Amino acid sequence: MSVPVQKLQGVVNTQPQRIPHYINGQRVAGDGSEMGKVFNPATGQQTGELPMATAATVDLAVSAARAAFPAWAATPPVRRAKVMFKLRELIEANADALAAQLTAEHGKTHSDALGEVARGLEVVEFACGIPHLLKGEFTENVGSAIDACSVRQPLGVVAGITPFNFPAMVPLWMFPIAIACGNCFILKPSERDPSASLMLADWLKQAGLPDGVFNVVHGDKRAVDAILEHPEINAVSFVGSTPIAKYIYETGCRHGKRVQALGGAKNHMVIMPDADLDQAADALMGAGYGSAGERCMAISVAVAVGDEVADQLIARLAPRVRALKIGPGGEDVDMGPLITDIHRDRVRGYVDSGVAEGAELVVDGRGVQVKGHESGFFLGGCLFDKVQPDMRVYKEEIFGPVLQIMRVASYEEALTRVNAHEYGNGTALFTRDGDAARDFVQRVQVGMVGINVPIPVPAAFHSFGGWKASLFGDHHVYGPEGVRFYTKLKAVTSRWPTSIRAGAQFVMPTNG
Ligand code: NAD
Repeated sequence: MSVPVQKLQGVVNTQPQRIPHYINGQRVAGDGSEMGKVFNPATGQQTGELPMATAATVDLAVSAARAAFPAWAATPPVRRAKVMFKLRELIEANADALAAQLTAEHGKTHSDALGEVARGLEVVEFACGIPHLLKGEFTENVGSAIDACSVRQPLGVVAGITPFNFPAMVPLWMFPIAIACGNCFILKPSERDPSASLMLADWLKQAGLPDGVFNVVHGDKRAVDAILEHPEINAVSFVGSTPIAKYIYETGCRHGKRVQALGGAKNHMVIMPDADLDQAADALMGAGYGSAGERCMAISVAVAVGDEVADQLIARLAPRVRALKIGPGGEDVDMGPLITDIHRDRVRGYVDSGVAEGAELVVDGRGVQVKGHESGFFLGGCLFDKVQPDMRVYKEEIFGPVLQIMRVASYEEALTRVNAHEYGNGTALFTRDGDAARDFVQRVQVGMVGINVPIPVPAAFHSFGGWKASLFGDHHVYGPEGVRFYTKLKAVTSRWPTSIRAGAQFVMPTNG
């Protein structure tokens, strides 16, 4: 295991660890012109410092990737798959250490971090099937003695820019498929929790990946802009907030790149009067407060159909939200800290604004302190009732442990609310009525839909992506859409000697 043990949960750092870039199979210090800080959110202490890449560092990574590309693209898919099989073994064997690293820099609980690793691992397993996934199509005799086939070929050098909230899983949504397809990859992970990406880099090397095929550069807007503007990067995958996703999409496209940019969310769960309310309340606790609400598929709005449903849900939820165990993610708790003090204060500001706008704050977690961790970035669970569509707290993504109840009179009104929202990432309907469920699936304007499933994250062999302001671009991420995104199609039409021997043809070829 290559990550210094001092960085793992429970061990107090005295000196911030230097976190390097990873270029051409080597850990690289960077030019030191600008350094970023990494914190343990549970203690509020700085645990690491990392070099912020300049355009020159990005260019170094691109040169390494470009040099590695021809040989890697020419490597048979079955051999590329063998690297994925080995990576799968290494991640599984070291899942506990990777999860500890996630807890140390992100703050999520260890069990939640293990879940993140498991969901990322599923994409590696999908990528193990790349020989089958890259099989093209063939038609014999598209014309007399003329055959046609289509093949998928890699794009070249592709980049991934990822958010803080899943420092292992979101990179794993991207690079296993990109690499298995024959591309070289440059990862720009979140500067808040960058160390997991280096563990993955080490395991890729141990799995036999040639140097230069996978590279990690750290940084912020400067590094991102260098990626977007680099003429030798062919495609960019982005996951993060909507304003940045839009910027990435527009800038990347302007520079001639293929871009998929996944943005923010405001996920609604509609609860019908016939739903099992105990089950719905359980689902809302996990989906609203798991990972302190810092999930793009978190449920942030519970749309209760009828006052009776709202009252009963609040009776079930309020005591449980007050009783949430909050503390360092390495301990036996329900919820860890938020990622930074700035983000914690921002979420607290949203709660203030909800109160000022007239929503009813049923549970107020703003004053929560964790004993012995007073400098940690903690916030208690908050529960709002009677949230209205014109409130800022409803319109904007909060990304914290704040669940809102919205009361509506009918199923149609609930559907209208979901469809009118700017975001369209995930949604859920809780009901026992098959007709309502079917109607919801057909008419809802959201990319990922759960029926009695609160967080409907698609399995690795489907694909993940929202609609509206939750995704810019044409392809969802991972699964079959991932293979399409990271390859370009080539159509080949062939005719062999017999017809050539027969002499030249001067008429337009037809299918006859
Ligand atoms: P973010 O948009 O602040 O950052 C994402 C990435 O963009 C990071 O690598 C960051 O360094 C870079 N970045 C930040 N500001 C930039 C700028 N001005 N110019 C260029 N690059 C910039 O997002 P975050 O706070 O790290 O993550 C949380 C957000 O991600 C939430 O909005 C959440 O909904 C979203 N998210 C979406 C999905 C999804 O699948 N749709 C999944 C996870 C997270």
